[in-house]
Amino acid sequence: MSGDDVSRILEQIEKDRVKFIRLQFTDIIGMAKNVAIPAKQAEKALTDGISFDGSSIQGFARIEESDMVLKPDISTYRILPWRPDTMRAARFICDIYTPKGKPFEGDPRYILRKQVEEAAKMGYIFNTGPELEFFLFRQEDGKPSLELQDTGGYFDLAPTDLAEDVRRDIIIALTDMGFDIEASHHEVAESQHEIDFKYGDALMTADNVITFKFATKTIALQRGLHASFMAKPIFGINGSGMHTNCSLSTMDGQNAFYDPAAPLQLSDIAMKFIAGILKHVKAITRVANPTINSYKRLVPGYEAPVYIGWSASNRTALVRVPAPRGRSTRVELRSPDPTCNPYLTFAAILAAGLDGIKNDLEPPKSADKNIFHMTAGQRKDEGIDTLPGSLFESNQFLMADPLICNALGSHIVENLNLIAEIEWDSFRTAVTDWETKRYLATY
Ligand code: ADP
Ligand code: MG
Ligand code: MG
Ligand code: MG
Ligand code: MG
Repeated sequence: MSGDDVSRILEQIEKDRVKFIRLQFTDIIGMAKNVAIPAKQAEKALTDGISFDGSSIQGFARIEESDMVLKPDISTYRILPWRPDTMRAARFICDIYTPKGKPFEGDPRYILRKQVEEAAKMGYIFNTGPELEFFLFRQEDGKPSLELQDTGGYFDLAPTDLAEDVRRDIIIALTDMGFDIEASHHEVAESQHEIDFKYGDALMTADNVITFKFATKTIALQRGLHASFMAKPIFGINGSGMHTNCSLSTMDGQNAFYDPAAPLQLSDIAMKFIAGILKHVKAITRVANPTINSYKRLVPGYEAPVYIGWSASNRTALVRVPAPRGRSTRVELRSPDPTCNPYLTFAAILAAGLDGIKNDLEPPKSADKNIFHMTAGQRKDEGIDTLPGSLFESNQFLMADPLICNALGSHIVENLNLIAEIEWDSFRTAVTDWETKRYLATY
């Protein structure tokens, strides 16, 4: 960062009458973290960075090497629109460095940066367009409840869609923070919503996912509601996904997935990218679906993907090629859910896609029939495999996939492994309601 950049942003901070600055970053499990500093510390933050103790952040560092430095990315300067004007606050998203000035291997943003650079070496920019779904629950006594806020359904209008006002406020806040909102609608389940924003390069979009989640939670809370991005909060109704639309563009801005002369108008590059995703999707699942609960969404009957396949005509396929072509030519991976760390998820998807390109992988025949209507035998004949059924399984697939492990780096992989083991053990040993209902009276 040049001295000019620093003075320009310092002037902006003063002009905006900002009192507090939040230095934001993301931990390994995708939680937004921040430290607040008074605006007069901005210069120090922008030049030397701000030190913090990494040992108290999940998956960061051991005690003996815990000093970390936050360095703001000045392109991420945004006013937090929900803070009062008299107490104006702005945020920067930060990159994390070791005290020796090296990028920290446990910083998910750095992991994505590295993968994006890998794509750039091959002449590509990776674009993602995530579609985040979420539920609005009522807050009761200051805590989230499972009380649904409305009983609307897909694309419903007020008065069923009580959330119209909340959604509008969320959209206003996001727009103030620089989002280009494309659409918003009531989702299929009661009290479930989707707000779509325009795709962009993967690093910016991953930042946006984090901002989207905390802005949505903040605005909802102002209206006594809890916005939940949990993958499957209620048994029996659709869970929440984070479909991830992906494309590569060349440095001159052409969509590298579009080829008007090719079958389906999908370029060779697009086909190889699809093949790479399908090859590595079981390992990708560990990061795209990182909670025990994530796997309760990936079951038949609720529009979520279960079987490994791709299609340009079938909406239920794991990898779908939506109809638009030209600039909008893209590949949609439908398995990720919004509990994922977007930096790690995008890095894993990109690494897989690039592997497909580097090694000229070919995708299997597309699965254009509704796979959910096939019998187990038919799926076997067609060679259609299934996604991992649990965090335990997907973690094993990650450990067995050197390419994805290498993309995430050993620091992240070791921590993901540890987290999965602890989480799985806690779940495996818990005695649940389901078990007591099923067995207590009978035995
Ligand atoms: P769906 O039909 O799956 O519900 P949506 O319309 O809700 O799709 O969302 C589509 C997403 O894809 C949007 O975020 C949009 O910006 C994004 N998108 C459009 N073109 C591209 C592209 N070339 N690369 C990546 N994402 C794209
Ligand atoms: Mg959508
Ligand atoms: Mg749509
Ligand atoms: Mg949706
Ligand atoms: Mg979609």
